[in-house]
Amino acid sequence: MIVILHTNTDEQSKEYADTISFLEQLPNISLQYHVVQGEEQKLSEIYLLGDTQKVDQAEIENLDCVDRVVRISEEYRILGRHQDEKRASGFIYNDVHFSQDTCHVLAGLCAVDTPEHVETMMQALQKHGQVCTRMGAYKPRTNPYSFQGHGKQCLPYVFELAGKYGIKVISMEVTHESHIDEISNALQETGNPTGVMLQIGTRNTQNFELLKVVGRQTQYPVLFKRGYGVSLNESLNAAEYLASEGNSNVVFCLRGMKSEGGAPHRNMVDFGQVPVIKRLTRMPVCVDPSHSVGSREKSPDGILDVAHAAAQGLIAGANLVLVDFHPAPHAALVDGPQALLMDELPRFLDDMARCHEFYQTRKSLWA
Ligand code: PEP
Ligand code: MN
Repeated sequence: MIVILHTNTDEQSKEYADTISFLEQLPNISLQYHVVQGEEQKLSEIYLLGDTQKVDQAEIENLDCVDRVVRISEEYRILGRHQDEKRASGFIYNDVHFSQDTCHVLAGLCAVDTPEHVETMMQALQKHGQVCTRMGAYKPRTNPYSFQGHGKQCLPYVFELAGKYGIKVISMEVTHESHIDEISNALQETGNPTGVMLQIGTRNTQNFELLKVVGRQTQYPVLFKRGYGVSLNESLNAAEYLASEGNSNVVFCLRGMKSEGGAPHRNMVDFGQVPVIKRLTRMPVCVDPSHSVGSREKSPDGILDVAHAAAQGLIAGANLVLVDFHPAPHAALVDGPQALLMDELPRFLDDMARCHEFYQTRKSLWA
């Protein structure tokens, strides 16, 4: 059961103290506090855990600070929407707001290779008004002999260049808990010029021990990728591991499902499920058209399959697009064949902005 307090409730007030003492004396119930920080408002939620069957919902709703009470199911306890459309979603990280209403493109290198390529990418992003990117330093690879990413050695220049070009959030995959410390150390050593969103890759969707460690820290939000071979329900439960450990600043990312049926695309594009995730949970939803489509093929209309897939996601209400770009795809060490080119960046951004706008139009059509 979740007790949602009125927005901006003053935690020093007598009403707040009375509300808390009432909740504390409920038998066989323990309390867990969550604060959801929206762009303008702060929302406090108190989770009643334990024997909530006998709790009188109306009595709690009558308390001074309480806006409403939501009975929740066992699944996705914290990240779930629980059929309450009014529940706040999202978070602000490093001055960037992510929610089920916002729209951001995270264009960047699948894998960091050279400082020159990182700089070219970041410079182009700044030129086109972007403050987010993706940069892979730790790469999970199918083949043990393939390039595994430059790891911690590249972090200082990646972060410094991000700072130089006003990039505020870098989505960066971590495959081991030690990577979080390496990222923190590098950020500190470079004077915190940027921020990092820890990415959980599709291969680690159900690496529960990694999820627990990433969930125990709240310094960095998480971009969590759907497992490419498990059900949506299993992936959402896995994301809940992060929240159950304390970190509910989670973006859920669709990236296509492994299936021969998806061919000739690398994976079966699953972006039709964007609205399903918004209905079931409060997480902002991301789509990754690069790892779904996996190539630079285009259709006779002249539009790349990657742009088509991303557009499908945004028109269905996606809030982020994670997409591979590269200044010299032939020289890229990972996923060159699916990278978009630098001169395609402004067109891609324009396309995405229009798709998001069109989603807003669709929303008012159906209102
Ligand atoms: C990536 O985004 O770099 C990546 C490896 O993606 P995925 O985990 O979806 O394969
Ligand atoms: Mn990749």
